[in-house]
Amino acid sequence: MKKQQYSYEELTKIDHMIVNLALATVHAAGADAISKNGVKIDGDFITVDIKAEVVEVAERLAETPWTVIMAYIQRDMDPVKAPDVPELDEAGVCPVCGGELEYGDREDMDEGGFYPWTCTGCGATGREGFDTCFDGHHYRVRDVAGDPIPGRND
Ligand SMILES: [Zn+2]
Repeated sequence: MKKQQYSYEELTKIDHMIVNLALATVHAAGADAISKNGVKIDGDFITVDIKAEVVEVAERLAETPWTVIMAYIQRDMDPVKAPDVPELDEAGVCPVCGGELEYGDREDMDEGGFYPWTCTGCGATGREGFDTCFDGHHYRVRDVAGDPIPGRND
């Protein structure tokens, strides 16, 4: 009954909708139960054409390491968009399309600054802000005579 697990590369080659439905199936039935008994999809929510495909993918997903599945979810699935879900906001990721950002020259401010960016995916532009924060007095500290203070000379 046990199927072969997927590698990350194999997963990325499968139709996203099939993987979505298969993940939902694994989530509902549980990987252990599927591993033991396989998948049976009742009802007419999914057409017969894709049922067999979803079953096959779900049975293999049940054997696939969680880290591979998480890598797929994070890198290859569309981010969830809903009124209650905050937009993805992380450094280096386009807040419009999730594409990769290309940075211009840093613009300094009092307590941090900005990097202007252009998205390599959709062409959107913006400025990414950052704050500076204290990390210690360990850089080139000198006494009044100009001699280095031990341990503070990074
Ligand atoms: Zn973009």
